[in-house]
Amino acid sequence: MTGVVLTINAGSSSIKFSVFEAAAHPQCRLIGQIEGLGASVHCKAVDGARKPLIDRVWPAGEGPDSHAAALAEIIGWLEEELPGVRVEGVGHRIVHGGRDHTKPVLIDDALVADLARLTPLAPLHQPHNLAGVAAAREHFPDAPQVACFDTAFHRTQAFVAESYALPRSYYEEGVRRYGFHGLSYEYVGRRLSEIAPLEAAGRVIIAHLGNGCSMAAVKGGRSVATTLGFSSLDGVPMGTRCGQIDPGVLFYLIDQKGMSTKEVADLLFRNSGLKGMSGLSHDLRVLETSDDPQAKDAIEHFVYRVRRETGSLAAALGGVDALVFTAGIGENAARVRARILGGLQWLGVTLDPAANDRNQTVISSADSKVKVFVIPTDEEAMIARHTIHLLGLGVPGRLIA
Ligand code: ADP
Repeated sequence: MTGVVLTINAGSSSIKFSVFEAAAHPQCRLIGQIEGLGASVHCKAVDGARKPLIDRVWPAGEGPDSHAAALAEIIGWLEEELPGVRVEGVGHRIVHGGRDHTKPVLIDDALVADLARLTPLAPLHQPHNLAGVAAAREHFPDAPQVACFDTAFHRTQAFVAESYALPRSYYEEGVRRYGFHGLSYEYVGRRLSEIAPLEAAGRVIIAHLGNGCSMAAVKGGRSVATTLGFSSLDGVPMGTRCGQIDPGVLFYLIDQKGMSTKEVADLLFRNSGLKGMSGLSHDLRVLETSDDPQAKDAIEHFVYRVRRETGSLAAALGGVDALVFTAGIGENAARVRARILGGLQWLGVTLDPAANDRNQTVISSADSKVKVFVIPTDEEAMIARHTIHLLGLGVPGRLIA
């Protein structure tokens, strides 16, 4: 019987899942997503070689309507697709680990209660992450569960980088920059040290540009600054989120336009960014194929903001040795990358246009002072590795906790 770990990344109406062999160098056996919970449910999964395994759409209102029901569905498939496997551990992506969690930890009742207390800091993610934990603990009462935090990677930052210019008591109660996308940065950083160890040991800016976007300044593998802060709204614009905004705009929306906090939150989290600016779509591919001037403005603004944040992170690092693009836009949108980099020649960046068009691993020219990389992220693999490592799986002679 093969031992595997299951990874779970539970969002508001979706669960991303994957299965990795419980080995020192884990291979992916299956990766998938079930989305539209409670409405129009769709599940897709592929095997480790990205061959489609499952593609199922339920008639509206008939699919699983909770995380527990979705997980039961997923487990049913796993038993069909991977007969005879034994789940030796479950790794969860947890968006918020608060001030104290700097690495993955085993989940128990006390931890769940602690993490639930952080819900006000990440109301759109934390409750769903915890719903995934509850469902997995119920389905796999004997398998140890591991929490992997998106904030943990950034806990190496200094006070100057982590703090807001508010009275100190706010910092002490937890009003500080936490940063997110940490599992992605960690994975990409490790890949960079395999591909280009010299650069990875130096000053690196990683741009995680997907539906959610952030950028991080990483020195010698440690996070020194990042664009996301207390919530997942700061920094560069995203698919539907605004990115950096003057708090004065919020006073205006509330005091002058009479908007409720819920309406403001809806605007900033769900109806801003590429979607809000373009009035068309959150999806860059749609905007790139549109002639609408607002779509062009949205892309132009996105490019401009990524460039500006690059300058800010370069200042935090005291110079740059490498830039890395990752996630949906970073890995695929060659034209957007070219436009971002075209405005960064002052930093010592020279693009190799042909390599960029082909999404090659290295897209800077041979004489570029700053090397530029495209590295696909894999948060699921990072969660699996953490889970395997923490549980001591794949190490001969070691028993799981
Ligand atoms: P998530 O944060 O939900 O994981 P992804 O990392 O999948 O999101 O990124 C989604 C974004 O990547 C979308 O804006 C999508 O348009 C963009 N994207 C994906 N493929 C391409 C492509 N070939 N060209 C341009 N943009 C792309």
